[in-house]
Amino acid sequence: MTLSFIPLGIGDAFSALHYGACLAIEHREADESTWLLVDCPHPIRKMLREGGLAAGVPELDVGSFAGLVLTHLHADHASGLEGWGFFHHFALQRPALVATHPQVHRDLWQTLQPSMGVLLRGPERTPTEYGLEDYFDVRPFTDTTTIGPFTIRCRTTWHHIPTIALRIEAGGRALGYSADTAFDPALVEWLADCDLIVHETNLGGAHTPYDQLRELTPELRAKMRLIAFPDGFEPQHIEPLVQGQRVGVG
Ligand SMILES: [Zn+2]
Repeated sequence: MTLSFIPLGIGDAFSALHYGACLAIEHREADESTWLLVDCPHPIRKMLREGGLAAGVPELDVGSFAGLVLTHLHADHASGLEGWGFFHHFALQRPALVATHPQVHRDLWQTLQPSMGVLLRGPERTPTEYGLEDYFDVRPFTDTTTIGPFTIRCRTTWHHIPTIALRIEAGGRALGYSADTAFDPALVEWLADCDLIVHETNLGGAHTPYDQLRELTPELRAKMRLIAFPDGFEPQHIEPLVQGQRVGVG
């Protein structure tokens, strides 16, 4: 299995049962693994610990990852960024690589500055100003970027705030991820030739109603997995992801 992923969180923003949508993607070649994180809700280290244990990778931790791809700044996808950045700064002592769209990058420091913008340094505990680049190595992209063996393509979605859907390719396989989006046939078409498609579903508006996904062709539904759904959701026609249960791509 060269490309696979562990769903670390599968719930929506209001879930009392699951963590927010988050994928730990692994490319494995000749016993060498490279990990890529997609989105970063809080509490990300606990999510990595629990997801890793459930999937037989107990050592999975922040330092395991070559980088993070960020789809958008809603808290159920991005509330772990403060901890991710601080852990890189203090524990790993290197900036965290973050690939995202320029419109997400534009607003990123605005959300983090109040809690990360000043640190007390030295024996005098001198208040010292910090910037985004002290914690993160942000790589804005509008079309394609690469992290290790992963080629990552993006496309903006219909959502409340700037958001990107993803095609992540490695080892000759392609994983598609809708991220948060209103139902968008053009986006489904963009994802259609991926080996596996992770698609959100929720109550409509800026999300995708399940009734629209169940109308897709049997071929598409067979390779589609659902994420970011409400508690108690039990679809009949498309398989939902299970938190901590690894999925092979292709
Ligand atoms: Zn959202």
